[in-house]
Amino acid sequence: MHTAKDAGRNCVVVADPAQGGAVLRGRGFQIREAIEHGRFCLHLQPILELATGRIARHEALVRMVDDDGGLVPPDAFIGVAERLGLIGAIDEWVLRRSVELLAEHPDLVLEVNVSGRSVGDLAIPRFIEQEVRARDVDPARLILEITETAAIANMDDARRFADALSALGCSFALDDFGAGFGSFYYLKHVPADLLKIDGDFIAGPRSHVDELVIQSIVRIARELGKQTVAEYVGDEETVRALREWGVDFAQGFHIGRPFPAEELGAGR
Ligand code: C2E
Ligand code: MG
Ligand code: MG
Ligand code: MG
Repeated sequence: MHTAKDAGRNCVVVADPAQGGAVLRGRGFQIREAIEHGRFCLHLQPILELATGRIARHEALVRMVDDDGGLVPPDAFIGVAERLGLIGAIDEWVLRRSVELLAEHPDLVLEVNVSGRSVGDLAIPRFIEQEVRARDVDPARLILEITETAAIANMDDARRFADALSALGCSFALDDFGAGFGSFYYLKHVPADLLKIDGDFIAGPRSHVDELVIQSIVRIARELGKQTVAEYVGDEETVRALREWGVDFAQGFHIGRPFPAEELGAGR
C-alpha cells in the first residue's frame, strides 16, 4: 500500500473541525517557510514508451523538505496549499526547477503537474515562456499535467490555459483520466494532447469493466489524435496487455519508482 499517501490524506481530512484548523495552520506555516526558503525537491518517475521499450520521459513529482530533512509527500501539502492560496508559488518552484533540469539534461522530457487551481492563472504560461527562453529549452520537452477532477469547475479557464500552452509549444495532459465524473465532458471542451488513464483501472486485479474502460479510452484517444499513458502499472503481464490494447506509455512501480532528480545521469 501507499502509506505515505494515506498518511497525507489523513493530514488534510480531519474529523474534528477545531483540530482540523490547528493542523491546517501548522501545515500552512510550514508551507510558507518552505516557499520562502525554497525547501522543495523533485523526484522523477520513468515513463516507458511501449512501442520502443525505452524510457522516453519522466514525471516530476514534488516533495517538501521538513526541518529534519525528511520528505513530505505532495498529498500532505498540495491540498492545503491550494486552500491557502499558496499553490501558485509551489507550481512556479516546480516549473523553474523542471526547466533547469531540462537545460542540464538534453535528452530529458518531463511531465510536470500543475494544480487545477492554477489553470485560471495565465501568469503560469507566461512564467513557463520566460523560463524556457531564459534557459534556451525547447518547450516541446515540457508536458503539463492537470488533474481533471481539480479543474472541472473551470472549463473555460482550462481551455484558455490549454490554448496558451499550445501557443507556447508545450503539450497538455489530463491526469487521472476516468476518475472524475466529468471525464468525457472535459474531453469535449478541453484540447488535451495526452490522457493519463487513472491507476484505479490499471492496478491489478483488473475486472472486465476495468479492461473495457481502458480499451474505450484508448479508442477515443486514437480517434481524436491523442496519446495515452497508463499509470500504476504493477507487473509485466499488464505491460503486455497495455501494448496489445494500443496504449502509448506505461508508468508505475514495476517500470520504475520515483528517484531524486539529482541522481539523473548517475547511472539513471
Ligand atoms: P499523480 O500526478 O497522479 O502522480 C502519480 C502518483 O502515484 C505519485 O505519487 C507516484 O509516486 C504514485 N505512483 C506511481 N506509480 C505508482 C504505482 O505503481 N503504485 C502506487 N501505489 N503509486 C504509484 P506522489 O508523488 O505522492 O504524488 C501524488 C499526487 O500529488 C500526484 O498524483 C499529483 O496529483 C500531486 N503532485 C505531485 N507533484 C506535484 C507538483 O509538482 N505540483 C502539483 N500541483 N501537484 C503535484
Ligand atoms: Mg501526474
Ligand atoms: Mg495521475
Ligand atoms: Mg493522483
